[in-house]
Amino acid sequence: MELPHLCVTVDLEEWYHTLWFDAGEVVNRHCGGKYPKGGFLGPLKEILALLRRHRARATFFVLKEIAEGFPEAVRQVHDEGHEVGSHGYRHGDLSADPKFEEKEAETRRLLCSIVGEGVRGFRAPNLKVNGDMIDSLGRIGYSFDSSIMPSVRIPGWYGGFAPQHPYKPSRLDPRRADGGSGFVEVPLLVFPGLRLPAGAGWFVRNLGASYVRAAAEMQLKLKRPAILYVHPWEAAEDPGFPEVPGHVFRRVGRYVLGALEVLLSELDAKKATVSEMLQEWS
Ligand SMILES: [Zn+2]
Repeated sequence: MELPHLCVTVDLEEWYHTLWFDAGEVVNRHCGGKYPKGGFLGPLKEILALLRRHRARATFFVLKEIAEGFPEAVRQVHDEGHEVGSHGYRHGDLSADPKFEEKEAETRRLLCSIVGEGVRGFRAPNLKVNGDMIDSLGRIGYSFDSSIMPSVRIPGWYGGFAPQHPYKPSRLDPRRADGGSGFVEVPLLVFPGLRLPAGAGWFVRNLGASYVRAAAEMQLKLKRPAILYVHPWEAAEDPGFPEVPGHVFRRVGRYVLGALEVLLSELDAKKATVSEMLQEWS
């Protein structure tokens, strides 16, 4: 029987794009008020080397600012056989922007011109997506979104009931499947049944690689794809900002790279990009 899919996804952004703390204040205090650019390049190199070692292809959702500043890094990701998608034109809540469609179409054009082919996937910054955005994404030319954590609701964070496998999202509510269009939602990994969130680097670092591995094993046993996501800054050393809450950079660096190594080598799955998985998903 065909193996189920493990899709590693990477949100290509800098450490100060996370909304866990006031990045502006940290940048003022520690970086002389100037946002340092390119800190993601070192950890990206490590992630690419790790994927190469495991012959695993992954999907990279690229923030527009990264694509503008570092097109050659995005091209390298693509040239190594990975999929390039969009992580939006700005790292904030895009769900209330009346110009979302226009601005995101521009992001897709930029990414397509860098990789020289169509770009299919989108992941909303901070996983904040709504029905209007889904509608726009389809019109812009994307064919899937991967911004839903179908977990129990975690106030102020994310969650809420949604299918735990790829589905066609409703235009009114992306958490509901109505099969109305060809557009697909690819939800992130949660524990089947319990619906505890699991598919993010934060869980790897704060609850341990074995927590994420257990969720992935259960999901794969059900013959459903397991979708994980990490950020390059999670594979870098702790920048050591004393005012940032401990959980934000907890066990970043070696621990995360080691955990990915374990997940890639021990999970019995086909390591594929989201688009490759969708081609075989039924
Ligand atoms: Zn992000």
